[in-house]
Amino acid sequence: MTGTEFRAEDRTDLVGLARAELRETLAALGEPGFRADQLWHWIYHRGETDFARMTTLAKSLREKLVAACRVGRPEATRDERSIDGTRKWLLRFADGNEAETVLIPEDDRGALCVSSQVGCTLSCSFCYTGTQKLVRNLTAAEIVAQVLIARDRIGEWPAPKDGRLLSNVVLMGMGEPLFNYDNVAKALKIVMDGEGIAISKRRITLSTAGVAPAIGRVGRELGVKLAVSLHAARDELRDELVPLNRKYPLKVLFKALREYPADNARRITFEYVMLKGVNDSEADARELTRLVRGLPAKFNLIPFNPWPGARYDCSDQKTMTRFAALLNGAGYSAPIRAPRGRDILAACGQLRSDSIRARRARPAEAMTAPAD
Ligand code: SAH
Repeated sequence: MTGTEFRAEDRTDLVGLARAELRETLAALGEPGFRADQLWHWIYHRGETDFARMTTLAKSLREKLVAACRVGRPEATRDERSIDGTRKWLLRFADGNEAETVLIPEDDRGALCVSSQVGCTLSCSFCYTGTQKLVRNLTAAEIVAQVLIARDRIGEWPAPKDGRLLSNVVLMGMGEPLFNYDNVAKALKIVMDGEGIAISKRRITLSTAGVAPAIGRVGRELGVKLAVSLHAARDELRDELVPLNRKYPLKVLFKALREYPADNARRITFEYVMLKGVNDSEADARELTRLVRGLPAKFNLIPFNPWPGARYDCSDQKTMTRFAALLNGAGYSAPIRAPRGRDILAACGQLRSDSIRARRARPAEAMTAPAD
């Protein structure tokens, strides 16, 4: 290798840098701060990865950037499409680790389900990811890259005229976002920036298994919507389903939730996976309503998605309907989510949607009823 050659990985990846860091990077190249704003626009509004095409930048700057920087994208090693329109991309990062990103289209919008870690430490007994060990936290760049790749693949740069398919982001992929708070927060600030990707905090949902001490920061520093993977209304059962409950029991969790900036327009979503004979009795439903009383709350009832070796079954349809009716009767919205993307084995807490089922005619097979 001669002295003038450089390897891609030696160049600074601009993706994942906070705006202030981008300014510093440009200052180090002898460029004024406002250039950072122009570059930000190219990277996050136009989705451009090639400096040569960033035509509003002086040619001399473009040459400096080509030599010293890059706009990185992980490799998408798989690109799958479900019969119901769900898209899944498997991303391979520089060190060979992989994470999955899933786009769940609805009629006039869609949510991208983003991962925050490779693997997970929570070991929730009903979750397939829980059987895998944590490999590492994703960096801010790797979290933002999931949104960039999705926009690349669905062709939404800079912005389609008739609304975006990728309109919402849910942190319900692999990992516990609040165990990787700093990188998640940095990534979300980039995603929310109005001059770039511009997905507002109202369209972002962070889902946690209940890392109580970090919930206050989410409210103060990010202001996104909050979802809590509850799954049980009693400590004894929740200890078993979500072992994190032993560290932060319901009383501690709900104290943090009562301080969260939620209101009727921004309710806290309680995710509740329906497990036959485990958490689906009428008494469970009544305990749930007692537990959340006074909070602006809604429920997502998730039919358990079985995996090989799982020790649970999904509740039957009648039981789920009854459970939902009890929550409705107490004044809470509690849709039973229709599973999505099963044929491509997409794994995401948000893989469910009732709106498509209600509004769009689909083949009977695609309108999968919960497996029971
Ligand atoms: N760690 C965070 C983010 C991951 S999202 C959290 O726990 O909230 C995890 C969600 O995936 C859970 O709320 C649950 O709804 C869903 N989930 C995991 N395994 C599932 C399964 N086998 N069937 C249905 N939903 C599952």
